[in-house]
Amino acid sequence: MSVKIKHFPGEEIETRDFREGRVLFESFRPKARYAWSAGIAISRFLEELKNGRILASTCSKCGRIMVPPRIYCEKCFKPTDGWTYVKDTGVINTFSVSFIASDASRLKEPIVVAVIELDGASEGMGIVHLIDEYGDWRELKIGMRVQAVWKPPEERTGAITDIKYFKPVRE
Ligand SMILES: [Zn+2]
Repeated sequence: MSVKIKHFPGEEIETRDFREGRVLFESFRPKARYAWSAGIAISRFLEELKNGRILASTCSKCGRIMVPPRIYCEKCFKPTDGWTYVKDTGVINTFSVSFIASDASRLKEPIVVAVIELDGASEGMGIVHLIDEYGDWRELKIGMRVQAVWKPPEERTGAITDIKYFKPVRE
């Protein structure tokens, strides 16, 4: 035979009881402040985007030109030791066509995100960005040449969005 508990011992409390001071409690606002650094290489990279230039770092040992720049060559296990600029043109290394918006709603016109290998950077170095002005997305191809479309200088803030998107270059 089972016993059903109809009333638990103790007092039930509600939010109101806290507000009205009927329950002993402690309250405080933590002064938690956070700062996040982009690091040496990415900070310089973002600063240069404001000037409409794409910065890469170089390794004198293996000769690689890395973009986005990093301060450490993971191939040679040594710090990178130079800087250079790469072009704002390149080729699509891979891409994704999405008909789902960030709020999970369905889109009529897709968002296209690609990895772009920039001219002047070593093979396999790519940045992720949007592709637009492509016409029909079914005509997008790996290896297609693209070019950056920049925001006007006065609107740039030192963010990757200083480049609005990359557009196919019709050759
Ligand atoms: Zn290296």
